[in-house]
Amino acid sequence: MHEKTIAQLSAGLAAGEFSSEELTRAFLERVERFNPQLNAFITVTAEAALARARAADQRRHRDEAGPLTGVPIVHKDIFCTEGVRTSCGSRMLDRFVAPYDATVVEKLNTAGAVMLGKTNMDEFAMGSSNETSLYGPVHNPWDLAMVPGGSSGGSAAAVAARLTPGATGTDTGGSIRQPAALCGITGLKPTYGRVSRWGMIAYASSLDQGGPMARSAEDCALLLGAMAGFDPRDSTSADRPVPDYTALLDRPLDGLKIGLPKEYFGEGLDGAVAQVVEEAIAEYRKLGAETVEISLPNSRLAIPAYYVIAPAECSSNLARFDGVRYGHRCENPKDLLDLYTRSRGEGFGPEVTRRILVGTFALSAGYYDAYYLKAQQIRRLISDDFQRAFQQVDVIAGPTSPTVAFKLGEKVDDPITMYLSDIYTIAVNLAGLPGLSLPVGFAAGLPVGLQLIGDYFAEDRLLHTAHRYQQATDWHLRAPAAFA
Ligand code: GLN
Repeated sequence: MHEKTIAQLSAGLAAGEFSSEELTRAFLERVERFNPQLNAFITVTAEAALARARAADQRRHRDEAGPLTGVPIVHKDIFCTEGVRTSCGSRMLDRFVAPYDATVVEKLNTAGAVMLGKTNMDEFAMGSSNETSLYGPVHNPWDLAMVPGGSSGGSAAAVAARLTPGATGTDTGGSIRQPAALCGITGLKPTYGRVSRWGMIAYASSLDQGGPMARSAEDCALLLGAMAGFDPRDSTSADRPVPDYTALLDRPLDGLKIGLPKEYFGEGLDGAVAQVVEEAIAEYRKLGAETVEISLPNSRLAIPAYYVIAPAECSSNLARFDGVRYGHRCENPKDLLDLYTRSRGEGFGPEVTRRILVGTFALSAGYYDAYYLKAQQIRRLISDDFQRAFQQVDVIAGPTSPTVAFKLGEKVDDPITMYLSDIYTIAVNLAGLPGLSLPVGFAAGLPVGLQLIGDYFAEDRLLHTAHRYQQATDWHLRAPAAFA
């Protein structure tokens, strides 16, 4: 059963080929057997999953089942889950048990999805390799010596290794798309505001967005349909109806105009990755799409702007972890200042500490105009580049990541090189646009992702564009040999 997509599992459940309890047991067995090699899970909630699976089976008997009822999924450990530890990969929240469910969790529960557990991630979602987690690194199922990408590396590895058919992730600068690319799965970062951030632990609030990770675009469409929607508890949530993302997947692509930004195919892009991406684009031409070269002239400013804005927002968001309210508290503080400094010093790892320091500096009096304000102005230039492009084309395509998965440990001591992993994904967050990564082949035996970028709220178009490719090819069905 584990090789089936969500769409196939959903059909199997509806036809009575297996129960959700059987399905859930099968995936839990795989988690038990394979997770020790991958470290993709922080918490496994086996008993709760089986109880939920039985409830889903009953719901089905009552004829009240929807497409996700009884389907196993996992949540990135950044989403609050009532009664279950929500660690964010950090010592700071190692013992934090959320008193409520995030909106995304609640919505997927309501749809009847069965949570198997919580997945590993970079600490507070800061990273591109899943090596900054308190719980240790995640291993890439295609080669255990390689990183899975980050920060949603646990979710990506779990889907790729068939320990779950679907997962949630979050993407502030690439954390859904980049690990999806490095693990050979499909991941969608929706338009900012499409999915509620309520109960999703904040990293950089103007960039953070939750989204689905699964094997196929069709599965992402099913998950997004349940996750998206207006939420009065998130003031930036978009108040517009959620379309049926699965309804129009099968239309032909004829006439689709794909823009290829010349800045995404230049220096820094690995040659073998470029070749695989070119082949995917050739396939799109065969499917009836037309390709046009475009320019996103401010692309090179995205990383510097992001590494001012994201740390600035993180320094403010993470101020709440002070040892007083919740989270880690140091032993025997001398006085209040000692309580703050030691609790924070012990609770946060080195990457989080670095970002808080950078962000606090960038926001301090005298520097605000030079850094934060300027970064916000660049952000506008980047959005304008995309808006000009979308006057010419329907979708923008290019590589998701400049390289395939790299070796564990290779970039941990070199933050700048690590930050460059997100060179093609970060601008999309700065502009608030939707972006999707789909697997399109292999370079040196490791998966390569193609990124599709759409205009605001064009998730349906991205899913459709990816789905048509997946109907014509089988890259998304390939499984890593050790986990087939
Ligand atoms: N790698 C980027 C960072 O470390 C993006 C992370 C993310 O999208 N959460 O900030």
